[in-house]
Amino acid sequence: MQDALKLSLPSRLNLAVRPTPLQLLPRLSEELGGPRLWAKRDDLTGSVLSGNKVRKLEFTLARAVAEGADTIITCGGLQSNHCRATALLCAQLGLHCELVLSGEATEPFDGNLLLDHLAGANVSAVSPDVYKRELPELLQSTAEAVRARGGKPYVIPTGASDAVGVWGYVAACAELRDDCARQGISPGAIICATGSGGTQAGLTAGAVLHGLSAQVWGFAVCDDSAYFQNKIRQDLRDWSQGYALSLDIESLDIRVIDDYIGPGYAKADPEVFDTIAHVARTEGLVFDPVYTGKAFHGLVEEVRRGRFDGVADIIFLHTGGVFGVFPQRDQFRF
Ligand SMILES: *Cc1c(COP(=O)(O)O)cnc(C)c1O
Repeated sequence: MQDALKLSLPSRLNLAVRPTPLQLLPRLSEELGGPRLWAKRDDLTGSVLSGNKVRKLEFTLARAVAEGADTIITCGGLQSNHCRATALLCAQLGLHCELVLSGEATEPFDGNLLLDHLAGANVSAVSPDVYKRELPELLQSTAEAVRARGGKPYVIPTGASDAVGVWGYVAACAELRDDCARQGISPGAIICATGSGGTQAGLTAGAVLHGLSAQVWGFAVCDDSAYFQNKIRQDLRDWSQGYALSLDIESLDIRVIDDYIGPGYAKADPEVFDTIAHVARTEGLVFDPVYTGKAFHGLVEEVRRGRFDGVADIIFLHTGGVFGVFPQRDQFRF
């Protein structure tokens, strides 16, 4: 399996700081009194590139550059980590960046949006209603405008979650396998926050391909379980067909927990903010209210309810998101 995977690994740009550490969270583990909790520190994939998106973008941008693109177009929420990572990587690679964002981009810019502007991305923000209704058309008209001025656009879908982006976390599973071997653990579960599905898709396939017996669980931060079951399996089908892989996609278990979405995307309950502060004080890790804080809060609840009874070791993928803390600073209860 591993040899077959190596043969098929597509070209990749070296953009992320890899490998990232796998760290035990001793105090949180003890407090919970259940499985040992570990954090895979993908918040350390870069300083301003921090998070999971750069792992996917190593493959996505390699493809874009190979196709001769000079302008990257992508989309997301106003505080999208994916858009921020893309904007900075475009600057690093000498590419233009066009961002289509959902929300009202009022000054002074904060968090990821500030970094988008610092990186020189061309930002067009539209109301959430328009974004929801017209995203494909907005991306298409942006691409046409780029072509009209003689540029070569390449459109990256939300979160870089598609057949190409799946490679990011398929490849990361080789790292996780080595991490686990070094620590002498065989984790029962690998947990991530799921927003566009590409991370969970890559982990799900990558764990099997790299001989990790862990179950992969995603905590949904926006859409429900049925949506992600569909989206993730479709991304995996596209991936396996696009690269002629022989993995049986239909036999993979896609496990999504959608009980901790709270008020909606990028909106969290007060308990999530409390959890973020608690984790920061207890282990020195900073989670965010959009993704990691929500997912970790869900994980703690599920451990307490017994879902992971009998599991010795759980790996929580810290997918970054620190810049999302700042725009929601007034939600913390100190
Ligand atoms: C995008 C993102 C996720 C979710 O990853 P997907 O592949 O989009 O499901 C999780 N955490 C953070 C911090 C993110 O930016």
